[in-house]
Amino acid sequence: MTDKRVAVITGGASGIGKQTAIKFASKGDQVVVADFNQQLGEETVAQIIKDGGEAIFVKTDVSKYEEVEALVEKTVATYGRIDVMFNNAGIGRVTPVLDQDLKDYHSVINVNQHGVAHGIIAAGKKMRELGIKGVIINTASVFGFLASPGTFAYHASKGAVIMMTKSAALEMSVHGIRVLAVAPGAVDTPIIQGYKDQGMVDQMKSKVMGNKLTLPEQVADTVYLLSLPEASAINGSVVMADEGYASFK
Ligand code: NAD
Repeated sequence: MTDKRVAVITGGASGIGKQTAIKFASKGDQVVVADFNQQLGEETVAQIIKDGGEAIFVKTDVSKYEEVEALVEKTVATYGRIDVMFNNAGIGRVTPVLDQDLKDYHSVINVNQHGVAHGIIAAGKKMRELGIKGVIINTASVFGFLASPGTFAYHASKGAVIMMTKSAALEMSVHGIRVLAVAPGAVDTPIIQGYKDQGMVDQMKSKVMGNKLTLPEQVADTVYLLSLPEASAINGSVVMADEGYASFK
């Protein structure tokens, strides 16, 4: 057992999750990279180890509670504790609401909403059991506040993340566990790169000063700051990491 913190990052194989895993490891934390993409997840871990950090990969589908519970158990079996749970895995689908394939709707809700609920519950229970005053951070989005065409299920899921964050923070504060959300705007990751509609990406870029996409490293920095003891007064909050997306007209 060491005095290092242990951070679990879901969706750690790519984009924001990958950069967050690298950030925590670079600061000396022990990192558990969880993702259902084994190849890319193992590449994140290999990069961390090459750079002198400590990490393991645990293949996890966050939409299945038993897999998230097993992830938390594996974390504690390996490193002895869990201090930070970053519930970040997510997917996007772009379809007009009335032309929606309901299977897509349910997939988005299963991953983005239920996946976050599973992480909050499994990590929160383990932190309470071990008496750890940990931090749970969830990835919301500006799309949890603002509507945009073609992303009905995504809006539903991110709105739910925001209210689950507040509700869990309220109930878990008695155990000294903080629950927060980070809300990125338009971040340069494969989710956005996969949008076929370049007009939609251009429209998102135009919402921020400088007409650009945010880097995933910038969101990772925000998540890391929120996890620190110096952020102890921040609880139940949704912190915008959107370069003004939701604030500028
Ligand atoms: P990304 O596609 O690079 O990363 C998402 C990761 O989640 C991938 O590694 C993927 O394999 C993993 N994943 C998907 N479903 C999973 C499942 N069921 N179980 C485990 N892992 C799963 O995209 P990203 O932009 O880094 O997305 C990370 C989070 O940020 C998501 O919640 C997304 O909604 C959110 N977000 C992204 C943006 C943006 O502009 N990129 C903006 C706001 C919010």
